[in-house]
Amino acid sequence: MARSERERTIVKAQEKRKDEKRMSEVSERERSITVAQEVVFDAALIRRFDVTGPRYTSYPTADRFTEAFGPEAYAQALAARAGVERPLSLYVHVPFCETVCYYCACNRMVTKDRSRAQRYVAALEKELGLVDRWLRGNRRVVQIHFGGGTPTFLSEEELRQVWDAIGRFFEVTEEGEFSIEVDPRRVSAATVYALREMGFNRMSIGVQDFDPVVQAAVNRVQPIEVTEEVLRAARAAGFVSVSFDLIYGLPHQNVTRFAQTLAEVVRLKPDRVSVFNYAHLPERFPAQRRIDATALPSAAEKLAILQMTVEQLTAAGYVYVGMDHFARPDDELAVAQRARRLHRNFQGYSTYAGCDLIGVGISAIGQVGPFYAQNQKGEEPYFAALARGELPTLRGVALGNDDLIRREVIQALMCHFTVRFAEVEEAFGVVFTDYFAPELAALEEMAAVGLVAVDEEEVRVLPKGRLLVRVVAMVFDRYLRTEEGEIRRYSRVI
Ligand code: SF4
Repeated sequence: MARSERERTIVKAQEKRKDEKRMSEVSERERSITVAQEVVFDAALIRRFDVTGPRYTSYPTADRFTEAFGPEAYAQALAARAGVERPLSLYVHVPFCETVCYYCACNRMVTKDRSRAQRYVAALEKELGLVDRWLRGNRRVVQIHFGGGTPTFLSEEELRQVWDAIGRFFEVTEEGEFSIEVDPRRVSAATVYALREMGFNRMSIGVQDFDPVVQAAVNRVQPIEVTEEVLRAARAAGFVSVSFDLIYGLPHQNVTRFAQTLAEVVRLKPDRVSVFNYAHLPERFPAQRRIDATALPSAAEKLAILQMTVEQLTAAGYVYVGMDHFARPDDELAVAQRARRLHRNFQGYSTYAGCDLIGVGISAIGQVGPFYAQNQKGEEPYFAALARGELPTLRGVALGNDDLIRREVIQALMCHFTVRFAEVEEAFGVVFTDYFAPELAALEEMAAVGLVAVDEEEVRVLPKGRLLVRVVAMVFDRYLRTEEGEIRRYSRVI
């Protein structure tokens, strides 16, 4: 039956409204990406404000942990979780590597002796059992991360053994986020499938740089085909998200060479890209003494590499999530940031806020309620503690109320680039502008040049300040004050 003129008009109006709604949703989405995740590179401001400082994977930072907080304190912290409905995130540290990468600052042991892995797996099982004995709270695990070192130093069978132990002591949710760091030089496509079959569904692949000259200079020769094979296998096996880790500031890098690496990265389209700044500290990390310091890029070259990186990745459609991390706009990290669900912990950014973090293995760090605890960093003290039936805790810290407030503020800056005063006031019963009066005064210099905007409701890190978010966070770090309580000034990085 033919439609009347009136009906046609109504249908047309409905379609027009639908189109307008669709358009407004698209522009709302684009606007939220632009507003929340835009980043602007301003070399002069980076030169002026960038200083050495923490990466804020915790607050207080790990250098504030003390040995006064030992195994007993951690056991009590675990027991105190009785009745607390917080899901768990589990970190498993595997410290072994077959060869050393000269830039490495991780806690790792270089060995080709595979028999050490079996002893270690038995120790991990024992540690999980001890955590189980003390933990009086929720056992639902929504996130697992295997990091290192090289987690795949463990054989498939050994990795399975650890998974089985986790399954015995905890309740692992099916739809959780289970990630593993992979060194493509040490895994085959078959291993990638085995990892997926075990339950891993996220992977981060160590790349650093595709340039063979740079690779040779840092003792990490990894032909691009090797990385591509692992990436292809991860996709075919059904890994939900694959991330590449890169480093800038390595010997022989310059803008032209690193641009080629980035062009390959863009071609391979990982879901996330981390680009870390290499800090040459040979007096602290002995392996770095093998790096030819004369081949390191100058500060100006490093800055130019960073600028090109930001431009190339954003032009390719990645958004800047924060602190060295880029992600495709539809990747869960980018989505979580727009939804203000992003969280930062010892593994970097995470989509799960509000978890207790249990760390097992040598040097692993946990965060349980208002406590941080770090395990022994050496093999022998770690094994000895477990042999005594003790948690292998080396050090930790119990957070006071001021720490908790500042942790919340620093988390909000690092994850959302915004601190809303009302949220802090509601959670902690303080008047933000009174409590943080010196900090707000200290931000005035940054506000004057457009790094941050401060009004009566919030502090916002503006696009020009986002590469410097750590420096904004440092303003709120009480431990960086002088003894007189003043906000300390730090030497510039560049
Ligand atoms: S960078 Fe990774 S693989 Fe290389 S030595 Fe360090 S932990 Fe091991």
